[in-house]
Amino acid sequence: MNRHILPGSTIGIIGGGQLGQMMAHAAQQMGYYVSVLDPDPDAPACRVTDRRIIGRYDDARHIALLRQSCDVITYEFENVDPEPLHTLSDEGYALHPHPRSLFIARNRSREKRFAESCGFHCVPFVDGLTLDPAAPQQMQKIVEAAVAFGDSILKTEEGGYDGKGQLPLRDLSEEQITQRLAEFHTSLGATSAVPVVLEKRMQFRFEFSMIASRFTDGSFRIFPAFENSHRNGILHRTICPAVLPDEELQHCHGSMRRLLSELDYFGVLTVEFFFSEDGHILFNEMAPRPHNSGHLTIEGCSVSQFEQHIRSICGLPPGEPSLYRPAGMLNIVAPYKPIAEIADALLKERDCHLHLYGKRQEKAGRKMGHITVLADSREELVARLDRVEEIVF
Ligand code: ADP
Ligand code: MG
Repeated sequence: MNRHILPGSTIGIIGGGQLGQMMAHAAQQMGYYVSVLDPDPDAPACRVTDRRIIGRYDDARHIALLRQSCDVITYEFENVDPEPLHTLSDEGYALHPHPRSLFIARNRSREKRFAESCGFHCVPFVDGLTLDPAAPQQMQKIVEAAVAFGDSILKTEEGGYDGKGQLPLRDLSEEQITQRLAEFHTSLGATSAVPVVLEKRMQFRFEFSMIASRFTDGSFRIFPAFENSHRNGILHRTICPAVLPDEELQHCHGSMRRLLSELDYFGVLTVEFFFSEDGHILFNEMAPRPHNSGHLTIEGCSVSQFEQHIRSICGLPPGEPSLYRPAGMLNIVAPYKPIAEIADALLKERDCHLHLYGKRQEKAGRKMGHITVLADSREELVARLDRVEEIVF
């Protein structure tokens, strides 16, 4: 159980990306002080926090520094080594979410098995595979599973994000698959065996995500579902609310609550889903943190995902995550038009909110900012997102 950590206390965030930046904004607005740990002094959150610790996440000295200076520690991404964090948590330090969530979320098949135990249905998958061109028997196992699925995606068990670490395998002969696997192994820069999972490629009506939180009073809060579309494996647009059949939605909410309870979870947690062609909800993956698809909650909901996270990890009462109006988000992923060409037009749009994270280096595929649009109907929202997209790209 976490105790009350009141405004005026200090919150430590491991990771200084845009999620950490927006978390810090929410915390500071409520009167908290914020320290951030990140190796990059130019990371977005380092621009805004009260204190910066520049260094590696897995260095015990840095974690100790955070511990000394903060009343509660949280994290904003899942590829943190859970080991040093387990030690903190075992010693009774306020670290939320519990590092067991990291342990589960960082491995794709472990998280799928866990999701199934909470009542979710997953995409068909084969786990226990290793990609190792020096071990033909292991390679043959992958080939056979890929042939059996017909259309599949091979994913590294760990470390993938924004579509990275994935290999689509569709309509290929056994020889072609073997060759693709070897090329993929090289492209990962791997020199030894890489644990992988093979998933059947699903035909879905749409993808969506759900962001939920659990509070010390024993209650849960779940934001309306976010409908997501991707480009090149990166989130492109979100529309809220996603329209889902009530029965499926209720089952999904029940499993979300179970998942949070099993993990003794405080903070917000996100799950990404597919809504299948035949009308079922399928678990894709989870993230023990706020999520890109929830950015529109800043202007669109009566509490943002970031404030909800802070409330939950600090043992405060929940905010009500209701949506004011249909809301949408467009990610600003590099490359996009020079800001001088688009700023005027964007800022003249009604109910349109520009967020830029202040990243100095613009690399293709890097998330530089996002835009939230509010509207009176879904039709109007889609039309306005189309217009904003024309302006930006
Ligand atoms: P990441 O950690 O990179 O977000 P995901 O597993 O969410 O990895 O995959 C990224 C995107 O690729 C998904 O949002 C979806 O659009 C597509 N995708 C992933 N797995 C499947 C699948 N089994 N069937 C169909 N599309 C998939
Ligand atoms: Mg994903």
